[in-house]
Formats: sequence, structure tokens, C-alpha cells
Amino acid sequence: QARLLFPLMALMRVALDLQTSGALFARIFEYLDLRPAITDAPGARPVPTGTDAAGRPLLGRVEFDHVSFRYPDADDDGRPTLDDVSFAIEPGQYAAFVGPSGAGKTTVSYLVPRLYEASGGAVRFAGADVRDLEHESLVSNIGIVSQETYLFHASIADNLRYARPDATDAELEAAARAANIHDTIASFPEGYDTVVGERGYRLSGGEKQRIAIARVLLKDPAVLVLDEATSALDTISERVVQAALDDASRGRTTIAIAHRLSTVVSADVIFVVVAGRIAERGTHAELIAQGGVYASLYRQQAEQPRVPTA
Ligand code: ATP
Repeated sequence: QARLLFPLMALMRVALDLQTSGALFARIFEYLDLRPAITDAPGARPVPTGTDAAGRPLLGRVEFDHVSFRYPDADDDGRPTLDDVSFAIEPGQYAAFVGPSGAGKTTVSYLVPRLYEASGGAVRFAGADVRDLEHESLVSNIGIVSQETYLFHASIADNLRYARPDATDAELEAAARAANIHDTIASFPEGYDTVVGERGYRLSGGEKQRIAIARVLLKDPAVLVLDEATSALDTISERVVQAALDDASRGRTTIAIAHRLSTVVSADVIFVVVAGRIAERGTHAELIAQGGVYASLYRQQAEQPRVPTA
């Protein structure tokens, strides 16, 4: 059943990758109605894989250059959702975005796969403006693991293969092992043929997330977007999920909408987003030394297991 979905267009693939909540689905379908807006530009090209003039690899580089953005249906006072946001994340770096709820962190992650278009400035992927790239190619280089995992009413194998239709059984199993979910799947009477999703076998939140991670591992994208769960996972499954995420992010550019202290503290770079602007940037040590917003958020939350979103 899931197989039927494979030929669907790239945008659909992003939608499903977002493993998403009903609300976001609604947004993406809205966006689909605006499809002409994301039709590939004449002369659009695949994501570049070479090196820049200085010989550094392009793939995995994500850059915002004076980006402004406002949701078309924003019901606020007309202030932009993102206001003159600039940053560069280098291939393989782990970048954490932290800040108060509603500051614009998730919005940053939407602009990378071009779910929405910047209204000012440029979003660059592998050194190229995303508007000049073939959308299918862009999307195939981005993997998303978000708080809500969407599973089709189909077997676990089909749910995994949707990330890579030609994956062999051995590859499925390797990805599931790396995501710490193989043993669980193997313990089901029907194993990888167990039907999940609506009206199917009910997996726990942590199990669903690990299936989402296995999918991303199969897809093997250059850039991983991680919308970390704030939802309640018990401590053990949180630890198991975290270990799988750590593995998945190793060696690839990771954009984490971060809630977990552990991942923020060890991030290569932290961007503190406040009211649509990047208020501070640096490593944990630098930002603590700076004694600004991050330092006070960190102090407030230091005894709690999660970093500041409110
Ligand atoms: P949180 O930590 O709560 O997830 P965030 O920093 O990720 O917050 P965003 O989700 O990026 O914040 O939202 C930034 C602003 O844009 C908020 O004011 C939000 O209400 C608004 N917003 C988000 N999505 C939409 C949308 N589809 N349409 C209109 N406004 C939106």
C-alpha cells in the first residue's frame, strides 16, 4: 500500500518526512495548492556536490543570508516572523537553535527544504540559492525527524522503504539496528511485516520516533533537521532515542530545534533566537561567558532536564 506512494512528487516526500502533526499537514496541503510557487525555475540544477573556490566541500553547507520571512496568514501586528537572519552552518556541524516559544526556530527549519519561501535575503544549500535548485534534489538531501511521527497504514518494512524503495532487507535491518528499534520489531509475531499506522499495531511514541530515525538513516541525507521532542517519553526510551539521534547526526550537518540540555551543551554552534532574530551565537562555553540571554536561560533551567523554550 505504501508502495503506491513512492512515485509521488518531492514535496509530498517532505511532507511525510516531517512526520507530521495534522496541523502541519494542513499547512503543507495548503502549500501544495500554491504549487506554481515552487515549480523549478528555468535552468534549475541539482544540489551541487563539488567544492568551493577554497576547496571546501559544498554539500552539507546551510546558509541564511539576511533572510526575512512572514507567514502569509500571520495574525500578529505585522512584525516579520524572521527578521534579517544570517548564519552559516558548515558540513558536519551540529547547530542547535534555542530560544523562547514562538521565536521562529521551527520556521528556520521550514525554509531550508523550501516549504516556505524567504521574502527577503537568500537561503543557500550547498552554496546555491534554494530557488535555483531542483526541488526534488534539494529534498532528497534533507532528512527530518520531528516530534510527531507519521506512519502509513502499511507494514513496518514498507514504512521504512518509503525512504528508499530499493533498500534490501539487510539494509532495512541495519538501519533499524542503528536506530535501536530492530529488537523491538523482531519481537513482534509478524516482525517487519507487522502492519502499523492508523488501525494498525499501536507503537509507543518512542518506538515511532526510532522508526523515523531508521527512515532517515536509510535516506542518508547530507542535512538532518531534528525537531527534538518535548513530549513525554519515559526516561529509558528518551535515552534510547537520544542515542539513536546522536548516531544519526554524527558526520552530517544537523539543525536541531533543541530542547535537551545535553545536545545543546555539546553543539558546535548555538543560535539563540528571540522574536525572529538571532540574538546570540556561539558555543555553550562562549555564551555562558557572555552572560546574556542564553546564560540566563541556562541558569534557570539547569536543574531541569530540558532547555528553555518558554
Ligand atoms: P516553539 O519552541 O514553541 O516550537 P518556535 O521558536 O519554533 O516555537 P515557530 O514555530 O517558528 O516558533 O513560530 C514563530 C511564529 O510564527 C509564532 O508566532 C507562530 O505563531 C507563527 N507561526 C508558525 N507557523 C505559522 C503558520 N503556519 N502560519 C502563521 N503563523 C505561524
